Amino acid sequence: MKIAIASGKGGTGKTTLATNLAVLCSSGSRDKPTVLSDLDVEEPNSGLFLKGETLHQQKIMKEIPGWIRDKCTFCNRCKEVCNFNAIAVLPDSVLVFPELCHSCYACVGLCPEDALVMKDHPIGELSHYKVNQLDFIEGKLNIGEQQAVPLISKTIDYTKENFPDNSIFLYDSPPGTSCPMIESVKEADYVILVAEPTPFGLHDLNLSVKTMHKVGKAFGVVINRHGLGNDDIEQFCRKERVRILGRIPNMPEIAEKYSRGELIIEIPEIRREMLNILTKTEEITGRWICRENHKTS
Ligand code: SF4
Ligand code: SF4
Repeated sequence: MKIAIASGKGGTGKTTLATNLAVLCSSGSRDKPTVLSDLDVEEPNSGLFLKGETLHQQKIMKEIPGWIRDKCTFCNRCKEVCNFNAIAVLPDSVLVFPELCHSCYACVGLCPEDALVMKDHPIGELSHYKVNQLDFIEGKLNIGEQQAVPLISKTIDYTKENFPDNSIFLYDSPPGTSCPMIESVKEADYVILVAEPTPFGLHDLNLSVKTMHKVGKAFGVVINRHGLGNDDIEQFCRKERVRILGRIPNMPEIAEKYSRGELIIEIPEIRREMLNILTKTEEITGRWICRENHKTS
């Protein structure tokens, strides 16, 4: 079961929901692993709330062309075939711009002199932590790297290679509705969109809902900081027939716990609401997620 937690913009409470649901699931599903992946690789912050033992760390690479000076005739073919302006042919050298390269192999395949070969280039780091029963995987993009998608894809691959298919996979997705977010939800069985009841929140939810329809994903909405603004989000969901899975209230205790890097399921009212969110997700998907859920419901 793969659940992505996404939102149209940052700061809506996506990571708060992802980390708290993950800890609930892991403590209630001891018969199968729960794996939380922080795929917000440009700014991963799930780790602020999850302290555990490091099990594994590795550099993540992508392939870029390396130039072999002795073979090059400076014919300019590589520059012509690169759709991403990632290669420049100068009078006495060929330059590759790693941050622009999409590893498409076109220049390597079409160089008439075999003067380009693919080589590894580091783009970020993957870390695997054990936090009680939870397996927490964090992808972190190197400073200056601009392409999040390859790192997101490799972080998801790591979880698929290291955990059984029947695990509960939670993805803390990047904010927005562009390629990184789509990469992080494309394999999900279900997407939870987090929205806040403000005019900006409604605007971003609208974009996220359109994106979900385009990519054909089943989804529901959690309203965070419920009670803060107006009820436009509720009206929007009714009109668009979008299921509201839960409402996290706008409470000072939540802000206090957040500022201390603590989980908000320590507040009984919030724990109940998080379990309700899991129950509704189970009803919709027809898949068992959290044993504790069934004990308390
Ligand atoms: S296509 Fe090959 S030979 Fe031509 S400029 Fe590029 S690297 Fe040199
Ligand atoms: S591998 Fe593709 S994107 Fe990268 S430099 Fe070559 S042609 Fe451009």
